[in-house]
Amino acid sequence: MASRTSELVGRVDPAQSFDTDALLRYASANVEAFPQAPTQFKVSQFGHGQSNPTFLMEVHSGSSVKRYVMRKKPHGKLLESAHAIEREFQIMGRSVWAPQVFNCGAPDTGNMEVLMRYGNEEQLHQWLVPLLEGNIRSGFAMTEPQVASSDATNIECSIKRQGDSYIINGRKWWTSGAMDPRCKILIVMGKTNFDAPKHKQQSMILVDINTPGVNIKRPLTVFGFDDAPHGHAEISFENVRVPAKNILLGEGCGFEIAQGRLGPGRLHHCMRLIGAAERGMQMMVLRALSRKAFDKFIAEHGSFLSDVAKCRIELEKTRLLVLEAADQLDQLGNKKARGTIAMAKVAAPNMALKVLDMAMQVHGAAGLSGDTVLAHLWATARTLRIADGPDEVHLGTIAKLELRRARL
Ligand SMILES: Cc1cc2nc3c(=O)[nH]c(=O)nc-3n(C[C@H](O)[C@H](O)[C@H](O)COP(=O)(O)OP(=O)(O)OC[C@H]3O[C@@H](n4cnc5c(N)ncnc54)[C@H](O)[C@@H]3O)c2cc1C
Repeated sequence: MASRTSELVGRVDPAQSFDTDALLRYASANVEAFPQAPTQFKVSQFGHGQSNPTFLMEVHSGSSVKRYVMRKKPHGKLLESAHAIEREFQIMGRSVWAPQVFNCGAPDTGNMEVLMRYGNEEQLHQWLVPLLEGNIRSGFAMTEPQVASSDATNIECSIKRQGDSYIINGRKWWTSGAMDPRCKILIVMGKTNFDAPKHKQQSMILVDINTPGVNIKRPLTVFGFDDAPHGHAEISFENVRVPAKNILLGEGCGFEIAQGRLGPGRLHHCMRLIGAAERGMQMMVLRALSRKAFDKFIAEHGSFLSDVAKCRIELEKTRLLVLEAADQLDQLGNKKARGTIAMAKVAAPNMALKVLDMAMQVHGAAGLSGDTVLAHLWATARTLRIADGPDEVHLGTIAKLELRRARL
């Protein structure tokens, strides 16, 4: 090892430091196509929260550089709490595709959570295991084109019991994941009893996407992005017959399941949005430090300085709110944490939109093009002022809780 320069670059927390020569020996022996005679080997640590310390390995070989990301925790180890996964989601949120690569994207994580909480043993084996292994993908079909679906009591899809089966009829759209050729299972929300009390009419049922009568009508785009490979579909269900055992938890439990699913799912979105905003900040600053306008770097113009500082304040405020919501979810559960989750769900997309918009502004026309990731990150952030409940609905929840507290 003496001929190689092995050094720690950046700030590796001393508590996390390790033998870099041993790491280099291990990587040379085990990592496919790892440069065998590196001229330089650097390890640096990603900043911020350290629930799972993550490192960047840079291997220089002549003029080429290879980069690897390495995590401290063993591969496949489950992180037990919402708080603990916050860091992973932030890193994945920097990219539009990383959550899928790591099998941590919407709607699959939410669907896995539904199966884990509410599925029986047979359903877990049939659908959860292949989902966790990344062998299949899934969709969550609740929203319908003909009714205001932010109020899920409006849903009209019918799920009727007939002997040992249920027959499903209805039309859904924005079923994310359903355009993916690997999508095999849909969790469909509909009504099993139109006469029951308002929040007991709905049920959720598992539908194999290849069941006769499930017709994918068309893909939907977001500002022109098709969001491949997961994609959003409009789907019709025409006399779709599924075994009665596919019902989740029982008839009338649809609302209860929806609440259980949406809390963690919303927080995952918030965590990814913080990652997206961090990427925007980084790109914005690098651009401002390298591009000159009117004889000065953009970073030297006063307006930029105050804008970038305001973005950082918004980002850090939101990060703390999301962490607080994750902590409450862990400590108090979904129901008690709902107010803080609602606050995070409103704050995170709005903050990310502001930061990404500023990053696009600093990039000039390039920021609006497909040459950078900014436009796609912005489009994704914009959907989250509507998807998983529009801002107004969450603001209503926050206000209701505030008023209830005042009356106590
Ligand atoms: C990219 C993307 C992915 C999606 N993925 C899925 C998915 O996988 N599965 C799924 O089932 N759905 C999905 N959706 C749909 C999404 O959940 C719904 O669009 C959302 O719940 C709103 O329903 P709606 O579109 O019917 O809007 P509507 O209910 O018609 O509401 C329209 C507008 O009315 C206003 N409004 C609504 N309620 C109130 C209120 N209480 N106070 C004041 N104003 C209000 C808001 O401005 C709201 O945006 C996705 C949507 C997008 C954009």
